[in-house]
Amino acid sequence: MDRTFLIKPVLDAEYPLIDYGKGVYLYDAEGKEYLDASSGAITANIGHGVQEIIDAMEEQAKKVSFVYRSQFTSEPAEKLARKIANLSIANLNWCFFVNSGSEATETAMKIAIQYWQEKGVYTKTKVLSRWMSYHGITLGALSMSGHTGRRARFIPLLEDFPVIQPPYCYRCPYNKEAPDCGYLCAHELEAIIKRIGADHIAAFIAEPVIGAAGGAITPPKEYYKVIKEICERHNILFIADEVMTGFGRTGTMLACEQWDVEPDIVTLGKGMGAGYTPIAAALVGDHVMEPILNGSKTIMGGHTLSANPQACAVSLAVIEYLEKNKIIPEVEEKGNYLKNKLMYLQKVYPFIGDVRGRGLMIGLEFVQDPIKKEPFPRRMKLTETLISVAQENGILVYPAGAGTDGINGDAVMIAPPLTITVKEMDDLIGRLERTFQQYYVQYAKNFTV
Ligand code: PMP
Repeated sequence: MDRTFLIKPVLDAEYPLIDYGKGVYLYDAEGKEYLDASSGAITANIGHGVQEIIDAMEEQAKKVSFVYRSQFTSEPAEKLARKIANLSIANLNWCFFVNSGSEATETAMKIAIQYWQEKGVYTKTKVLSRWMSYHGITLGALSMSGHTGRRARFIPLLEDFPVIQPPYCYRCPYNKEAPDCGYLCAHELEAIIKRIGADHIAAFIAEPVIGAAGGAITPPKEYYKVIKEICERHNILFIADEVMTGFGRTGTMLACEQWDVEPDIVTLGKGMGAGYTPIAAALVGDHVMEPILNGSKTIMGGHTLSANPQACAVSLAVIEYLEKNKIIPEVEEKGNYLKNKLMYLQKVYPFIGDVRGRGLMIGLEFVQDPIKKEPFPRRMKLTETLISVAQENGILVYPAGAGTDGINGDAVMIAPPLTITVKEMDDLIGRLERTFQQYYVQYAKNFTV
C-alpha cells in the first residue's frame, strides 16, 4: 500500500487490510481467513455481517440518523432504555447513553459524585478501584484504572484514586485459597476506606470479571457480597463496570447476576452495539436518580452523539437478535465446552498455567513452570509473539493482563462471538493448537531463561 496517514496502535507494524466478515470469520483483502476468537476486543458478540442488523440500520437511516439529545428524544432511544431496564437487575432502571466504554465509566463516576452533592455532601469525590483493572482511556476513567501500562504516560494528570488488590486467586497475594481465605482482598476495601475516610469516597468501581488488565480473572462466589456490604456500611456507591462482561458475555445479561449482587450503577459498552455501532451506557439505580430528580434535575454529562437514534436502533436490533435466537442461555454451556478443550490443551502444553473465566470470556495465563507459576520474563514478549503466531494460523486472540500490563506475566483471552457453533469451536481449538505447537517449536529455546 502507499504511504499511510492513519495512526494505528503500533506505527511501524503491518496490519492486514480487512475485506469482509461473516459470522465468526473475517477475511482480509488477500483472501486470508481468520477465526475471530476474540470478537475483536470482546465486542462482536453476535458475529459479523448479520443481515437483521444491517436492515435495522438502513430502516432507521431512512427516517433520521441524528438528533441532538438537548432538542429531541427518539423512539429508538426510548425503546432501548426501556428494554435495557427490563432486562437488567430490578433496581437499575435509568439509562444514560454515550458512545464508548470510557465515556460510560467516566459518566458513572460523575453521576456518583453528583449523587452525593445532591444530598448535600460535597467532599465525596474519590472513586476507589483495584489493581489490574481497566475502566477506559479518558483521564477520569484512567484515574480509576489499575492498568499500569496504560496509565504510565499520563500519571501526572491522573487523580490520585486508591486501589486495592484484585481477587486474583491464581496468584493470591495472601497465599490462601477461597473460600477459606476469608476474602482478605475484599476486606482491603474496608482498610482503605478507614485510611482515607468514607467522607471523601463517592464510589468503588470493579469489573465483575477482570478483562483487559488480567485475562478473565474470576472472583469467588462470596467476593462481591463482601464488597457490597462494606460499600453499604460506609455509604459508598458500588459501580459494576460491565463494559466487557455485559450483554451476555459471561452467560447472563449482566455478570453481576451470577454473584447475586445489586450494583448502584452499571456501565455497558462493547456488546451493546456488538461492533455494528459505537454505543455505551451508564445504567443508574432508581435510588441514585432520586436525589437528582428531586434536586438539580439534570446530569452534567453527555456527548454530542449521545442517544442518537441510529446507534440506539442498532443496539435494539442486537438485543432482539440475542433474544430471538436465544443466544445468552446457551453461553454457559458453550463456555464449558471450550474451557474443557482448553484444559486438555493445558495438559499438552504446560506453559498454559491457568485456564479461567465465565461463559465465553476465557483467560489463559502462561508460565515458565506450572508448579512454581513463575511468569516468563517480559523481555520475551510472549503474549505479543503468541498473538502474531495465532494470526499467522488464522485465529485472533486478545492480549490481556500481564502481557500488556508488565507486572504479572502473560495472558490472552479467548472470547468468540456468542453465536459460535460447536463445529466452529472445534475449528477454534484446532487453530489454537497449531498456534501453540508452532510457538513451542519456534520459541521453546527461550523457555530455559
Ligand atoms: N471498561 C472495561 C471493563 C473495558 O474492558 C473497556 C475496554 N476494554 C473500557 C471500559 C473502555 O471502553 P472503550 O474502549 O469503549 O472506551
